[in-house]
Amino acid sequence: MPDDYQVLKLRPEKEKLDPFRPYLYFHEEEPGFDGKLHKVNTIFLTNRECPFKCVMCDLWKHTLDESVPPGAIADQIRYALDQLPEASVIKLYNNGNFFDRRAIPVEDYPDICNLISDYETVIVENHPKLCNKHILDFQKRLNGTLEIALGLETIHPEVLPRLNKQMDTDIFIEAVHFLKLNNIRTRAFILLNPPFLTDRQENIDWCLKSVEFAIQTGIDTCSIIPTRAGNGIMDQLQKDGEFLLPELTDFEEVIDRAFQNNSGRIFADTWNLKPFSDCSDCLQQRTERLNQMNLKQCTLPQIKCHCNKV
Ligand code: SF4
Ligand SMILES: [Zn+2]
Repeated sequence: MPDDYQVLKLRPEKEKLDPFRPYLYFHEEEPGFDGKLHKVNTIFLTNRECPFKCVMCDLWKHTLDESVPPGAIADQIRYALDQLPEASVIKLYNNGNFFDRRAIPVEDYPDICNLISDYETVIVENHPKLCNKHILDFQKRLNGTLEIALGLETIHPEVLPRLNKQMDTDIFIEAVHFLKLNNIRTRAFILLNPPFLTDRQENIDWCLKSVEFAIQTGIDTCSIIPTRAGNGIMDQLQKDGEFLLPELTDFEEVIDRAFQNNSGRIFADTWNLKPFSDCSDCLQQRTERLNQMNLKQCTLPQIKCHCNKV
C-alpha cells in the first residue's frame, strides 16, 4: 500500500506560484437546485499544500510548500473578483482543504466573507476529517449558503484504504451528517477508475455504487471524475498494471446511468478528456454532450462515430 514517502518520491516538480495571486479563475454556469442556470465564479486559490498525500492526487502541483501570509488569500480573491463578472455562486477551491488552518489563515475569514458577501452560495472543498466546529465560525460570517465538497473517491472496501486518504466510509458518513445538521450543503467527488481496480466493468459498477452511497448518505450533488495519470506514482501504477486509464465511453456510460438512476444532481468533470479517447473525430462532440448534460441534468442522445464507441 503506497504511503506518503512513496507518493512523494515519484513526484515531478511543482509549478512556481505567486502567493498573492490565484493561479486560475473563470466564470461558468451551473444548474442550481431550483433547476435554473446560475452564474458561477470559480477561483483557484494559491495556498499551502494539503497535508494528506492521496495516491491519485495531482492538486499539489498548484500549491506552495509554506503557508501564505495573512491577507494574501483575501488579496487573491479581491484580484480575481476585479476581473470576473457578476455571479450568484462562488467556488473558492484551494486544491486542498479550506478549513486547514495552515492553508487558509483563520485571521482572513472576516475579509474573505466581506469580499463574498453578495454571493448566494459559497462552495469550498474540505477533507471529511476536517469537518468540525471551525467551519461554523466561517459559516456564521457568510450571508449566503455554504456548500462543502468532500472527496469520497470510492466506497470499494479494498481500494479506499489503499488511496492513502486516511479516510473510511464511516468518517465520510459522520462528516456529511455533521454538515447536514448545520444546514451546510454537500457535494462529493467520486472517481471512475481509482488505482488498484483494473477491470473495466467493475470500475463502472463501483463508481455507480459510490454515487448511490453518497446520495443515500445525504450528499446533494455528485461530481464524477475520470482518474488521471501524471503525478508520478499514478504513472508508475499504470506501468505496473495497477491503474487502468478510464475510457471516455465508460465515463459516458457512468454519467448516463447515474442520471437514469435518478441519483440527485450529477456533474461530469469534463476538464481535458483527451487522455481518455483515441478518436479525435468525436472527442469534441462527446465532451460537448457531457457539458450539455451537466447543464440540463438529463441524458442526451449518444454520439455516433466510426470508432463504434457508441
Ligand atoms: S485530500 Fe484532496 S487535496 Fe489532499 S491529497 Fe487527498 S485528494 Fe489531494
Ligand atoms: Zn470517434
